Amino acid sequence: MQAIVLHGINDLRYTTDYPTPAPKAGEVLLRMTYSSICQTDIETWQHGMFNGQGKPHIQGHEAAGVVEQLGEGVSPPGIEVGTRVAVENVRTCGYCFFCRKGTAQLCENGRNFGFSDNGGLAEYAVWPAALCIPLPDNMTNEEAPLAEPGSVAVHAVMQSQIQVGDTAAVIGCGVVGLITLQVLQAAGAKVVAIDTREQSLAIARDLGAIETLNPSKVDVAKLLPDITNSYGPDVIIETAGAPGTGLNAAQWVRRGGRAVIVGFSHQEQTLNFGRALMGEKTVMGSSATNTGEYHKAVALIASGKVNVKPLISGLVPLDRGIQDGFERMLKPEKDIYRILVGNG
Ligand SMILES: [Zn+2]
Ligand SMILES: [Zn+2]
Repeated sequence: MQAIVLHGINDLRYTTDYPTPAPKAGEVLLRMTYSSICQTDIETWQHGMFNGQGKPHIQGHEAAGVVEQLGEGVSPPGIEVGTRVAVENVRTCGYCFFCRKGTAQLCENGRNFGFSDNGGLAEYAVWPAALCIPLPDNMTNEEAPLAEPGSVAVHAVMQSQIQVGDTAAVIGCGVVGLITLQVLQAAGAKVVAIDTREQSLAIARDLGAIETLNPSKVDVAKLLPDITNSYGPDVIIETAGAPGTGLNAAQWVRRGGRAVIVGFSHQEQTLNFGRALMGEKTVMGSSATNTGEYHKAVALIASGKVNVKPLISGLVPLDRGIQDGFERMLKPEKDIYRILVGNG
């Protein structure tokens, strides 16, 4: 079968003779429709595989497909040959300390579709039936891979404990940020979008942001209180992962508010604990997604409350995935959100 295989740093290859997998007990064989390429795929390709999961594998962790064959012992309700599904990409163990505590996003033995295991950038893939989420009829194969960043956004919003009527800000309006904006709105918040890219701010306005701020042009710290509740947003979710943006979230959230850090940055940032603690601010991380949140992401996209269509920047067949997908993502112009790769 056709596949895009990562062999090592800077060594991504398209092949037409990768062996087609067979589903084991509890798994299904999927004919893949589309997978989207995200920044994590680019990082892994350019800088190596994280968690020491270094064996060659098929890329593609934001993926969707159609059930082609059921493995032994699989008869889950709602899943049969022909069912269109989104792939819930994290396969947690269920028995480690963190899983037993109900915090599966912290699982110590987690496996990932597209990282530790073969992913979706191929004609076929296998994955547990339990982690294949049937798509409602009104959700397209093109929208389905975006359920993965959607699940990350849902988890961050759940972590933020946003309340109806709250004000919020999102720092960073890439794919996760622009979905987070909409999940916050679906939860009943008014949202300010913050980014240095005017194109992203324009999309944020279209998607309902009450105000957009460009930190390279205006003093966000000064303007935010006026736009929110005169003290600053109740919640800030940071998805940029740029130098200083985590710190900005902690500084700009109101006293007693919650700053949720989603974006990953290698850089150390120094926080004045006196100010943060005396103001009873909560600064917390949000990592991947917990059980059930992938399902919420699918439901929000299907209902139209989360619109991912403006985030789809192109459709590319598998045989052009490296040139027109991965290599295009490397360009310095940050005007691409998600490129979908697959044969549809
Ligand atoms: Zn991703
Ligand atoms: Zn576990």
